[in-house]
Amino acid sequence: MRLSRHAILAPVPGRDQVLLVQPLTGQAALLEPSNARALEGLAAGGPLPADLPAETLREAGFVVDTDDQDRAFVEAARAEWRTEAAKTPTQLVVVPSFGCNLACTYCYQELFDPAAAGLISPEAVEAFFAYVDRHHGDESPRPYITLFGGEPLRDTPAHHDRIRRFLQGARARRMEVAVVTNGHDLAAFLPLLSEGPVKEVQVTLDGPAALHDRRRPHAGGTGTFDRIVAGIDGLVAAGIPVNLRVVADRENLSSLPELAAFAASHGWLELSSSRFKTQIGRNYELFGCASRQEKGALFDRVELWARYVELAEEYPLLRKFHQPRFHGIGHLADAGELPAPNFDACPAAKKEWAFGPDGGVFGCTATVGHPGHRLGSFFPQDARDDAAIARWQGRSTLTIPGCEDCAVAPVCGGGCGAIAWREHGTPVAPDCRPVAALYGLGARFYGLGA
Ligand code: SF4
Ligand code: SF4
Repeated sequence: MRLSRHAILAPVPGRDQVLLVQPLTGQAALLEPSNARALEGLAAGGPLPADLPAETLREAGFVVDTDDQDRAFVEAARAEWRTEAAKTPTQLVVVPSFGCNLACTYCYQELFDPAAAGLISPEAVEAFFAYVDRHHGDESPRPYITLFGGEPLRDTPAHHDRIRRFLQGARARRMEVAVVTNGHDLAAFLPLLSEGPVKEVQVTLDGPAALHDRRRPHAGGTGTFDRIVAGIDGLVAAGIPVNLRVVADRENLSSLPELAAFAASHGWLELSSSRFKTQIGRNYELFGCASRQEKGALFDRVELWARYVELAEEYPLLRKFHQPRFHGIGHLADAGELPAPNFDACPAAKKEWAFGPDGGVFGCTATVGHPGHRLGSFFPQDARDDAAIARWQGRSTLTIPGCEDCAVAPVCGGGCGAIAWREHGTPVAPDCRPVAALYGLGARFYGLGA
């Protein structure tokens, strides 16, 4: 008997416990460190502790007697993963323009060709929907459109016209529209967005007013916080779901409690999760340097969430503001079960496509507009680079060299293809995720077993 190849032992920081997870069967248990060590020692013929019955461990899939048992777990989990993946709607990300009215200090798009700042033409919007009908017309569940940028909501007649066209086109196809906006001109778009069909509007606030205004000023130099907050309040009043994003680094993380208190004072934290949710993202260098980004300010994943867990212990309101997922530990805490295994974390050119204002087709939000990642065009003609698309579509932990034998593959999913490409010159390479460390932090944050 030995520990399953995919069983993960995750020490819980600050607690004398180890979280044992078998992602292939969805089982988890908290152990004393000595018992965790004993399980690791089974392969070398070590004894099983008296308080860990062999049958219970076998039933949970934590231990196996043969390699075939491990292989059978993997086969069953892959079938479950494929079933789950088929239920995911495709996201069609459209960049109406790479132009923006803000001058965020960490903007990764500052390297993009300013000529690409032009607004998509009405003919290209029509061509986009013709492309959608040809390539995604009969998909179920229905795909949805995400308007992205640059900044899609700028208060000009031409922008209003294009947003109206996208909403009309989506409505005619029973598709919803999500919007990712800096929120500066949001109030001007509320009447149009209220007509629907809007899935959610993602808006970014990077902290309380002074800090936010320093990081995300208008291109003209003025602050943007008050206008954005008025826009969010308008969305809430109109019943349009809000996804509040914070881009976090060392400069602003410690101000999150203040932002959470602000959100509470506006009543946002009393709304149901279908009307108001939050996300905390890291900014990072993907394809180049954001020239005004302080490089030492960037967090890696473990640092960010370790610091967040500490802050939330000091300021409990943060727990109401944002509950991180920790690779499924959040789901375990909420629903009492782990999510289905995921052998592919990168939806690019599978469940996500992106469309540039000049008619280019790309794999996702991270690669849209990057000439090296162009996969075809929807305007002026429909053309697809089948070889490049096949490369992205074939990417999963089943094909990435090094991933197939990796113990955490069903949780990590191989990470991000764009980051892999930057590091290795091909998307079919690993972008490793610190699964065990995040599991441990998740167990502490959610007080599992406490
Ligand atoms: S390349 Fe990275 S950013 Fe793009 S879909 Fe894949 S994981 Fe997401
Ligand atoms: S990307 Fe790294 S951590 Fe993730 S499955 Fe592949 S080898 Fe494992």
